[in-house]
Amino acid sequence: MKRREIIKLLSAAPIAGGIIGSSIPFQSAIASTTTSTAKRNLFKELGLRTFINANCVCTDLTASLMPQEVLDAITSAASEFVMLDDVQDKVGEKIAGFCHAEAATVTAGCWSAMVLGTAGVLTGMDRKRVNQLPFLEGTGMKSEVILQKEHADGYHRALTNTGVSLIFVETSEEAEAAINDKTAMMWFLNKGTSRGQIKHEEWIVLAKKHNIPTMIDIASDAYPVENLWKFNDMGFDLVALSGGKAMRGPQSAGILMGKKELIAAARLSAPPRAGICRGHKVNKEEILGMYVTIERYINLDHEKEWKIWEDRVAVIINSIKNINGVSTEVFVPPYNSRSPTLNIYWDNKVKLTGDQLRVKLRNGNPSIEVKGRLRDGRTNGIEVTVFMMKSGQAEEVAKRIKEELQIFG
Ligand SMILES: *Cc1c(COP(=O)(O)O)cnc(C)c1O
Repeated sequence: MKRREIIKLLSAAPIAGGIIGSSIPFQSAIASTTTSTAKRNLFKELGLRTFINANCVCTDLTASLMPQEVLDAITSAASEFVMLDDVQDKVGEKIAGFCHAEAATVTAGCWSAMVLGTAGVLTGMDRKRVNQLPFLEGTGMKSEVILQKEHADGYHRALTNTGVSLIFVETSEEAEAAINDKTAMMWFLNKGTSRGQIKHEEWIVLAKKHNIPTMIDIASDAYPVENLWKFNDMGFDLVALSGGKAMRGPQSAGILMGKKELIAAARLSAPPRAGICRGHKVNKEEILGMYVTIERYINLDHEKEWKIWEDRVAVIINSIKNINGVSTEVFVPPYNSRSPTLNIYWDNKVKLTGDQLRVKLRNGNPSIEVKGRLRDGRTNGIEVTVFMMKSGQAEEVAKRIKEELQIFG
């Protein structure tokens, strides 16, 4: 290598100095810094299966895909330093304004929002208490959270991260009898509404009568969009929701909103401080990403979106409706990812279980994820959602399902 070339390379990559003398790795080190990540297909590189999500906004499927505006927000957020509390303050104010809440903070998901919120209820602004969590005994902090037995779907365990015990009730009489001077909070699961005997309004009335703060988990119920403010208006003191489900924000983010003093108290346990929620870290990228996500979601033409979803469902139905023995039905789940959802099921002419079809779709090209049974327990069918699809994917899904089913028809 000529001296002049070496000088040129050195000025391009000053830290690569240690490998002078071997021009080949030196060159390739430079080459790899100039190959932009955008040009790399990391999924191919690592042999990762990608797929069409016709199933759900579930964590195991990596939930949702962020819109370009959100990705742009995250990229631009990454380019400057800012004080973490400042960005939480400003974004919190905006989100609170959008959602009729007194205050809000971006969390590491809905689970995280529930832990932060419960921590805030327990400690208030007392920093000594913040440092005592999750050990409540002998601290003077309250230690019980009341919830309906039918609302215990697994996510309620988030509350126990703070050290509280859970008190399960079924009727309003039981709820009232369970309230005592250790009661810290009353928690409600929105998607458990139809299963639980006590509904939102009654829950709030009961709690207010005894001066107990309330929290509602609306994780996957950002649709319809009015839900973003409905439960603040209704009188819940804290509302927890996921960022990466219906709103398609960062999957590692969520929102806690509600009463000003409770949000301020909740933040004492979270970064940049070292309380029990230190591990629930969100940085400026998720926080600003969440801001743009919720703003976009509120401004979205939801009717138009719904129409697109219905059109996708129609594409799939039309491709299989003439197959002998195959039937379809469309329904909208009342809670938990509301969107037009398609059941495809068949009689015994089709020698396939729903789960076998699910596996065939997963292993086919393109790979497709669906639910391999119906919600009512029937195993001779699959459930298909369309709200997480990209444009053109409904046609691909329709084609693949038809290919697998028409063999029997
Ligand atoms: C998904 C979900 C959660 C957890 O939300 P994350 O944002 O993943 O932390 C909590 N509660 C309910 C009801 C959920 O569906």
